[in-house]
Amino acid sequence: MLSVSEAEKIILNLVKPFDPEIDSEILPLAQAIARVLAKDIKSELDIPHWDNSAMDGYALRFADLDNIQDLRLPITSDEIPAGVAIAQTLAKGQCVRIFTGGMLPDGADTVIMQEDTERIDNFLQLKVNPTQGEYIRHKGEFIRSGAVLLSAGTKLEATEIGALASARCQQVKVYRQPKVAIISTGNELVSLDSSQPLQLGQIIDSNLCALSALVTQAGAIAIPFGTVRDDKTELEAVMQKAIASADIVISTGGVSVGDYDYVEELLEKMGADIHVRAVAIKPGKPLTVASLTPALKVTESEGKVLYFGVPGNPVSAMMSFWRFIRGAIAKLNGANETYWYPQFIQAIATEDLHSQGRRETYLWGKLTYQKGKPVFQPVSNYSSGNLISAIGANALAVLRVNQTYIAAGDEAIVMII
Ligand code: AMP
Ligand code: MG
Repeated sequence: MLSVSEAEKIILNLVKPFDPEIDSEILPLAQAIARVLAKDIKSELDIPHWDNSAMDGYALRFADLDNIQDLRLPITSDEIPAGVAIAQTLAKGQCVRIFTGGMLPDGADTVIMQEDTERIDNFLQLKVNPTQGEYIRHKGEFIRSGAVLLSAGTKLEATEIGALASARCQQVKVYRQPKVAIISTGNELVSLDSSQPLQLGQIIDSNLCALSALVTQAGAIAIPFGTVRDDKTELEAVMQKAIASADIVISTGGVSVGDYDYVEELLEKMGADIHVRAVAIKPGKPLTVASLTPALKVTESEGKVLYFGVPGNPVSAMMSFWRFIRGAIAKLNGANETYWYPQFIQAIATEDLHSQGRRETYLWGKLTYQKGKPVFQPVSNYSSGNLISAIGANALAVLRVNQTYIAAGDEAIVMII
């Protein structure tokens, strides 16, 4: 059986990132949140645009302080608020009132913050010895005009959107969002929108909703294909349709060794290459990863469609997504390599963590900070069928193969989800 890292490698190697020319669009900046840049963006401006004050205070010429007594200077009658272009040069031996963002007058090279001064009539008494050049934001100090502000492959979060706006970038070229089709399989499943009373033996299809939510959170477009019975003909028809309309397909259920598990068989029938059949991970061992060229194609992409058959147990299905599918979506979406892998940190386990040691084991729980240190609190019930137990989980403690125990108080590797 493949190890987790082998499976991760195989999956990422199967993903051919979007083509920046074909799979991209131009969006107004405000609509580009959570999208991935398809092109480097250079700053059109020097930022700051001119030397300006970082404080409310007084601008002066540092060298003048050598010639004055008692750190006391005359204040000019001018004031320099933000937004005003000042023409005069600061006269020797004088200082001028300036406000945050105000343009530094020629001649001045230092700003004294208001709190370090006292105004006595038209004189300024400095209460501290200033440092030359302080409290000035120099022209081009943050970025120079023409320099790369953000490179292709960067995901645009709020900070990036703001930084782009500050450089007067009105629109951006971003990758289109990947389309991810989702299918739930199982005779026992009843779709959430059904109005029929639940019969004995039936359960609500929660995976369709949970996976759609995960796909949306990952910045892709979820296309739910609904709940399908364990019927080969019916399932094949839905799989064909999903494959034709998406870049990635995820189906849940039907990938174990049960008599009603048809996903792999159908993929083979459709001529798919099967790259992964199972992974030494707990939960989430039955994982089918295949690639295939759809018989019929309605999406923009030329490449093959990647198919993930994940287990039906709700936490297992999510685990496959967290550990393998999220990174694949990020790579497909043109995001740079830092987004392809989960984030791991070290945290102190609050309780003993156990594993049988045969598979890499992921235990869900809550990562918090106590006295500034990361702490992992596991849940008390690890049934992969119990999604309720995962409510509020934001992290997974990882026990490697052959690692059967981590004692309370010891450090564990924790994956952030
Ligand atoms: P399977 O992988 O098809 O053998 O399913 C494993 C377990 O997960 C069974 O108990 C199923 O009832 C349950 N299950 C399968 N699909 C879903 C789903 N879409 N939503 C909730 N539970 C499911
Ligand atoms: Mg099933």
